[in-house]
Amino acid sequence: MAQYDVIVIGAGPGGYVAAIRCAQLGLKTACVEGRETLGGTCLNVGCIPSKALLHASHQLHEAEHNFATMGLNVGKPKVDWKQMLAYKDSVIDGNTKGIEFLFKKNKIDWLKGWGSIPAAGKVQVGDEVHEAKNIIIASGSVPSSLPGVEIDEKIVVTSTGALELPKVPKSMVVIGAGVIGLELGSVYARLGTEVKVIEFLDVITPGMDGEVQKTFQRMLKKQGLEFTMGAAVQKVETSKSKAKVTYKLRKDDSEHEVEAETVLVATGRKPYTDGLGLTALGVEMTDRGQIRTDAHWQTSVKGIYAIGDAITGPMLAHKAEDEGMACAEVIAGKAGHVNYGVIPGVIYTHPEVATVGLTEEQLKEEGRAYKVGKFSFMGNGRAKAVFAGDGFVKLLADKDTDRILGAHIIGPAAGDLIHEICVAMEFGASAEDLALTCHAHPTFSEAVREAALACGDGPIHS
Ligand code: FAD
Repeated sequence: MAQYDVIVIGAGPGGYVAAIRCAQLGLKTACVEGRETLGGTCLNVGCIPSKALLHASHQLHEAEHNFATMGLNVGKPKVDWKQMLAYKDSVIDGNTKGIEFLFKKNKIDWLKGWGSIPAAGKVQVGDEVHEAKNIIIASGSVPSSLPGVEIDEKIVVTSTGALELPKVPKSMVVIGAGVIGLELGSVYARLGTEVKVIEFLDVITPGMDGEVQKTFQRMLKKQGLEFTMGAAVQKVETSKSKAKVTYKLRKDDSEHEVEAETVLVATGRKPYTDGLGLTALGVEMTDRGQIRTDAHWQTSVKGIYAIGDAITGPMLAHKAEDEGMACAEVIAGKAGHVNYGVIPGVIYTHPEVATVGLTEEQLKEEGRAYKVGKFSFMGNGRAKAVFAGDGFVKLLADKDTDRILGAHIIGPAAGDLIHEICVAMEFGASAEDLALTCHAHPTFSEAVREAALACGDGPIHS
């Protein structure tokens, strides 16, 4: 029986980062993973493969729509789907092997198999029971479905099945207009699939800034995605090669049907804690099935911590990673901290959408006095040069103190641009601080500065 300072259960971005930080801080560490490869949802069936397919399908879009304008005559591009999947798999492979290398480098033991916690201080993997002074649960999440919808991962798929369809379907219904549904929906729309999105709410990407939601939906429509909003899916019936989705419109209760070769159920994810033995241990859970923790990620059982998708908060890889690092630091006796007010959210469609801090709707609800600085990418020379003038940067700042309260970007490289605003917010910066910072020309980030200028005396290029 091996003895450890820390055993981490789950090697997703929360777990593997926690394990690496524990080891770096001098703690004898092991990480249990039941999957064949390290990296969790993110590297195997989430962030990384979806971004590979988004990249490949965006290149196709560029070749079809913009190459000829730039004098690049390559003929009509053809999709070799098998090769695209092979490319995606090689990206996964490179990344998961990278984590294996980091585990070896940091002398972390990978305990292969599914772990459970028979008692505080003990982790069982297969027949072996290991002792650990501290346990970090980073067991992540799995896709959730709807009543009346049975997933077969062939015709009715979750994001996992959608990342490895045997062929590009002619038609696809996406249930749920959240981040995952829209990212994968836009991949298939670019590859030529007729994509119809059915959403229960009246807006896409719930929780995002309202102006961004509208602009984003308009752009996606232009790219060929069709939307049915305010629709509650009743059931999905499958035959040999297609599925029929029945939904009711909430406004008049009328019932409708739509058929497609593939149905992607993208209605969210739920925490995964099966088989850990948490009930017997007395670990408190929330009513949404998440593990309840205190401000230092400790559960109701001393010495057992939890992080990432398995606990409350946004289900994002970087949130899990930050918690992993902070939790390791707490265990090592340091002051681990996560600022939940400054966690960016990004949608990697084209254009990208990125958001941090408060939305205008939230500020209104809080009754706070604020100002808006907005700048369109149409006024950004670099964006126009690369066919990406659609979209804007919207900065929200306190009316009296000028302190930045939030930012919402839709446009080129939004997912990278958002970080200068995250850093500014961490430093408690004002919009003027950003406006007074010299930004290189020609870059997309000039649009961020212009939005900051728009919070003061006004932008230059609009
Ligand atoms: P996970 O990554 O889910 O890892 C948990 C691991 O624990 C799994 O490997 C599982 O096998 C293992 N495990 C569970 N129980 C046990 C056990 N008892 N014993 C052993 N092992 C166990 N987030 C972003 O920030 N950006 C994105 O672009 C993004 N894109 C996404 C795209 C898709 C299609 C999906 C599905 C998700 C995406 N996400 C994205 C979300 C992101 O993947 C998750 O937020 C993140 O992976 C959560 O990390 P985690 O470490 O908490 O859990």
